[in-house]
Amino acid sequence: MKPFIAIAIVLALVLLTRPISAQVTLERLYVIECGERTAPDVSPWTPGVNVGRPVDFSDTCYLIKHGNDWMIWDTGLADAVFTAPPTDPNAWKRKNSLAGELEKLGVKPSDIKYVAVSHTHGDHIGNVELFPQSLLLVQKAEYDWPQQDGKPRFLPSHPVKRLEGDYDVFGDGSVTIIATPGHTPGPQSLLVKLPQTGAVLLSGDAVHLRDNWDAKRVPAINVDKEKTAASMRRMSEVMALNNAQLWINHDKPQSLTMKRPPEYYR
Ligand SMILES: [Zn+2]
Repeated sequence: MKPFIAIAIVLALVLLTRPISAQVTLERLYVIECGERTAPDVSPWTPGVNVGRPVDFSDTCYLIKHGNDWMIWDTGLADAVFTAPPTDPNAWKRKNSLAGELEKLGVKPSDIKYVAVSHTHGDHIGNVELFPQSLLLVQKAEYDWPQQDGKPRFLPSHPVKRLEGDYDVFGDGSVTIIATPGHTPGPQSLLVKLPQTGAVLLSGDAVHLRDNWDAKRVPAINVDKEKTAASMRRMSEVMALNNAQLWINHDKPQSLTMKRPPEYYR
C-alpha cells in the first residue's frame, strides 16, 4: 500500500470514529432569575382551591450554549423594572437586569443567535429588544395575535421565524420547541437534552405551579382551557418519552433550588 493511501485510510477512520464530545453539541444551560412577584390570592391559578392564599412567583430566563451558538429562552420582565421599580407591592419586580447577568457571564447581546419566547405575556418578552439582531423563534399563532389596542406584539423589523408546531432548533434533536397552545394562542415549551443532567422540559406557562401540575389543574387564565389541558397531556407524553424533568418557570419553591450563574447545568 502506498504511504499516502495508508495515511488517507487512517485519516478517514479518525474522522469516522471521532467521539461525540469532539462534535458541536449542547454544552450548558444557565437558569437566570428574571423577576419575582407576590400575588395576594393564588386562586385564579388554582381554580377551586386556596382562595385568599398569597403566592410567590418566580420568573425565569434560560441561557443555552450549543457549540459556539447562544440561545435565550424567555427574556423575563423588562430590565426597566429593575432600574425603576414599581411602588405597587403586588407588581412584578427584578433584583437584577438580564443585560447585567449576561455581562457578568461575558456574553454580549449580539452573541445571542436565537431568542425564543414561550409566549407573549409581558413577564416573558420584556427584553426581546435587547437582542435586535437575534432570530426570534415564536409560533405564528402567537406572533399574529394582536395586542388589545390592535398593535403587533413584536417590532415588525425584528428578524423572526414563525413556527407552526414543534421545531428542532439546532437540527440535532438536542433542543426542541414543543407547541403547547391554550394559555395564549401559540405558547411553546422547550425540551433540552443535556449531556449530564439529562432531558429537561421548560414549561412555559402551560403550568405555573408544581401543585397544579400534580393535580392537572388548569389555571383560569387561558384563551382555550381545553387546549391547555391537552397541552399538559402532551407535555406528560414528551416527558415520559424522554425521561425528562419538568422545570416550571414561575414555581418559586423549585426556582429556589436551582443553580444560579455562574453555575450552570451540563
Ligand atoms: Zn403567561
